Amino acid sequence: MAPVNGPKETRYVFVTGGVVSSLGKGIATSSIGTLLRARGYRVTAVKIDPYINVDAGTMRPYEHGEVFVTDDGAETDLDIGTYERFLDVDLARGNNVTTGQVYLAVIQKERQGVYLSQTVQVIPHVTDEIKSRIYEAGEAAHAEIVLVEVGGTVGDIESLPFLEAIRQVRFEVGRDRTLYIHVTLLPYLGAAEEYKTKPTQHSVATLRGVGIQPDGLILRSRSPVPEEAKTKIALFTNVEADAVFSAYDADHVYAVPEMLEQQGIARLLERQLGLERVTPELRVWQEAVRVLRHPEKHVSIGVVGKYVAMPDAYLSLMEALKHAGIANEARVDIDWVSAEEVAEGDVDHLDAFDGILVPGGFGVRGIEGKVRAARYARERGVPYLGICLGLQVAVIEFARNVANLAGANSTEFDPYSPHPVIDLMPEQLEVDGLGGTMRLGSWPMRMTPGSLLASLYASRVEGRDTVHERHRHRYEVNPAYVDTLKAAGLVVSGVTPGMEGRGEGLVEAVEIASHPFFLGLQSHPEFTSRLMRPSPPFTGFIRAAVMRRSAQSADVPA
Ligand code: GLN
Repeated sequence: MAPVNGPKETRYVFVTGGVVSSLGKGIATSSIGTLLRARGYRVTAVKIDPYINVDAGTMRPYEHGEVFVTDDGAETDLDIGTYERFLDVDLARGNNVTTGQVYLAVIQKERQGVYLSQTVQVIPHVTDEIKSRIYEAGEAAHAEIVLVEVGGTVGDIESLPFLEAIRQVRFEVGRDRTLYIHVTLLPYLGAAEEYKTKPTQHSVATLRGVGIQPDGLILRSRSPVPEEAKTKIALFTNVEADAVFSAYDADHVYAVPEMLEQQGIARLLERQLGLERVTPELRVWQEAVRVLRHPEKHVSIGVVGKYVAMPDAYLSLMEALKHAGIANEARVDIDWVSAEEVAEGDVDHLDAFDGILVPGGFGVRGIEGKVRAARYARERGVPYLGICLGLQVAVIEFARNVANLAGANSTEFDPYSPHPVIDLMPEQLEVDGLGGTMRLGSWPMRMTPGSLLASLYASRVEGRDTVHERHRHRYEVNPAYVDTLKAAGLVVSGVTPGMEGRGEGLVEAVEIASHPFFLGLQSHPEFTSRLMRPSPPFTGFIRAAVMRRSAQSADVPA
């Protein structure tokens, strides 16, 4: 087999984790990426997930967090979303590597006879497959620097082939183009009143046991780590003292890049990777943190969903609301409302909110509560943003209560509905497997001139009438009902162009005329929201919520 060789100029930064999981490695990796991007480098990031699922699409959001969707329709780990937001880049399928993908590819090659008559083994076949995926992700993005985050904790059985692969990368591309950073937990013992360094020492020893000596350490702790603890750790882990950084608990994740910058992490990157010293441009981040810490206004948004006990299930949504808040100089307080608690005849608790958002979701649980929340928002003139399922419930509600289509529903929730206003399209009827089988990834949306939707995207599209947003769903507004719904007053303000045989095309967006802000979108614009480019529907929604709040407080007699 041809040797796997990395491109000559690309540099690689590997991030591993030790001691415990959920350390915020994704934030650490993304923050390093931010600091490199702020210096003008082309950066991409790869997340390695040691699980056997081929992708995150088949995993429960309330256990694993949200399924993040890329432009090219990959269903990925939520860290990919964090990378996109921090690095302000669009990533692709190849940026999330899993054990499942690697073995699937190796086994397929074996069946095709690619390995001739060799014995196929973890080393070299699996490790070569991993390395080639890391190199390919860098090439596809024309990246000068590739960040690679190895999921899991050092010492886990399942991450061993990945650690071996990243060890070999240094061997192949050279010491001066590779950097290993290990993120560990530094626990604080109240009784002893000190940070305990032993778990970090052990974790680095384990990493060294597989042939990787980290060049830098990021210590997760509850407050800034005192210098003597850093010096002690440096001595016992063989890491330079100025390459030990403290990532203490931050009030906002967007403050972490600046926190690492101030401790001089860039010196380590420059020294190890032979980069020039450049002054970083971090103004957007500083400005965001300023607004988050000292907002002029605030609004309260009720998110009526299913996985309300696991906010990570809606990570991109929360970030998009935050971006929209920053753009409006407002702090957005998110109140999670379990859809099952929005009961018949008992919707007055929704009164507390300046806006109501129904996010994406699957399955019948809580559906009627979401339909009631949409009705409440429509009838009382409360700003409403419906994302994917949130559009579907708004259409169901409108069909039942305005267009008088009794029993209207989605066939996802009621296969025998007399009025299946939301239904599967022919191409979905033929699908029988799970995983990558929905309408996924970036699709165009043609907007009706003069609509709320078109006004929201106006500055982004500069005269064009089409935008792209990412999708992840199976069901669509049933084209057979579009004329009836329109005749009853529903405004269809966005369609997928070029879907022949479906009238004007599949419904992408609906609105309610003469309502302050009522928008349902079949796509998920939260996936493309960035601090530097907040998503227009979210920005408009928060603007409407701010207006409602200030109008209401003006009504209250002093
Ligand atoms: N369950 C709905 C569908 O499959 C909505 C999906 C979503 O909200 N992402 O069409």
